[in-house]
Amino acid sequence: MGTVETNLLVRGERIAGDGETLTVENPFTEEPVASVGSASPEQLDAAIAAAREAFREWQRTPAVERAEMLHEVASALRARTDELAELMTAEGGKPRIENADEVGWTAAAFDYYAEIGRDSAGRVIPSIESTQLALVVKDALGVVGCIVPWNYPLLLLAWKLAPALAAGNTTVCKPSEVTPLSTLAIGSCFDHLPPGVVNIVAGAGAVGAALAADERVDGVAFTGSVETGKKVAAAGVDRMARVNLEMGGKDPFIVCSDVAPALDVAARGGAWAAFLNAGQVCTSAERFYVMSDVYDDYVRAFVDHTATLVVGDPMATDTDIGPMVSAAQRGKVERQVETAVAAGAEVLAGGDRAGHDRGHFFAPTVVTGAPPQTDLLREETFGPVAPIVPVSSLDEAIELANSTRFGLGANVYTQDLKTILRCMREIRSGTVWFNDPLTDNDAGPFGGFKQSGLGRELGREGLEAFQETKHVHLETEIAPKEWWYPYSEYNAGS
Ligand code: NAD
Repeated sequence: MGTVETNLLVRGERIAGDGETLTVENPFTEEPVASVGSASPEQLDAAIAAAREAFREWQRTPAVERAEMLHEVASALRARTDELAELMTAEGGKPRIENADEVGWTAAAFDYYAEIGRDSAGRVIPSIESTQLALVVKDALGVVGCIVPWNYPLLLLAWKLAPALAAGNTTVCKPSEVTPLSTLAIGSCFDHLPPGVVNIVAGAGAVGAALAADERVDGVAFTGSVETGKKVAAAGVDRMARVNLEMGGKDPFIVCSDVAPALDVAARGGAWAAFLNAGQVCTSAERFYVMSDVYDDYVRAFVDHTATLVVGDPMATDTDIGPMVSAAQRGKVERQVETAVAAGAEVLAGGDRAGHDRGHFFAPTVVTGAPPQTDLLREETFGPVAPIVPVSSLDEAIELANSTRFGLGANVYTQDLKTILRCMREIRSGTVWFNDPLTDNDAGPFGGFKQSGLGRELGREGLEAFQETKHVHLETEIAPKEWWYPYSEYNAGS
């Protein structure tokens, strides 16, 4: 790995953070990768001021020019795929192959919003009279704060930053304190933008809270836990700042009886959905509801497949599952599994540290018999654990799927049309995937029902999250209207 960028980006300049020092740890070696100075209150103030000052010119820049600049960001990112993937693996522990994909998806989001942004200025609506023109005009919000978690640091930044910029906003971006390096590294991909349009600050919750509470920040786009998201929402209420919140999930995964001939495929799909990025995906499959007539075979296929997965060095090309991001995250997962076992659950695979004494490993784990009230079936796990539960009907599967406070995503394996329609209509979540778990689509809005979120990222909705709507009513003639004063004339004519 070459030199690691640890400076903040404020008003187009690289400055060392004066605030608290963050030590970034490699989750595989448990050794420090780099130290990053957080933004001091004065530096955060300067970043927000820079974004404020840059806003006037950036919103006036023709959308077609902004589009060219965003395409250039995408090219700059793609050209650095290897370097960025390696850095993301060093700071986050995700397998390198997944991080290389993430860089590609990040670039794709910039390309997508470059085009959507120059195709969406609003619309013409029918006017009240023939001498008039009526328009719905989309304006930028102003300064947008982008607050990002550690599991997909670049992708989840791009889902905010790309549409915010395309819509004419300027930004202050704050990566997670756990994984700031890849975000600081991509600062140079914005060198061709006017200074102040993209600012990047490092820091933990206090910096995020100060950004979310600042009067000069017109909108906050946040991805992270439900608990933090509620704080961000509360910070915005006072000044009615726009908030777009992507929060936690407890995604169900339903396997129907008609999949009997392809249970091994549904098991492989389920294992990938549960164990991808060591289960640290907001849309990880965290509860499996399997029809009782295929339950035993499904569990067997799932356990057999889990036994073949390679857990190890995330830089190695044959590694399927790397370490979890931190000791704290692993501890949370271990406690959830232990509590479920104490309540009667059985661990059929994994449940331990996969034979590693170094690195924050937790083996891909299959659990059966967890009582419905355990946290393992109710609260976010965010680790590589697949609890599997038999169900006797589709009604029961849907009821259980909808039974938590979350509603981010859901997966269903079936080819039965009636079942597809029922699940599509009755499952309360922002995405329902059939037979192809977790596939994102830049054009498909992403977000949560219930406590999983407010608003959407991606798609046209993901651009509108960063736009204000203005109705423009334009009369081309200067002439009095008959309904004006004096009413005596109006009444005389009626
Ligand atoms: P987190 O809530 O702890 O932190 C997220 C970000 O918020 C970090 O940058 C953090 O520094 C910042 N922050 C902390 N306190 C803050 C405050 N008071 N005000 C403003 N910002 C503050 O989440 P995490 O542990 O980094 O990420 C894991 C969580 O993210 C999981 O719950 C997961 O489900 C969720 N997530 C959701 C999605 C989605 O799209 N819905 C995607 C990925 C992750």
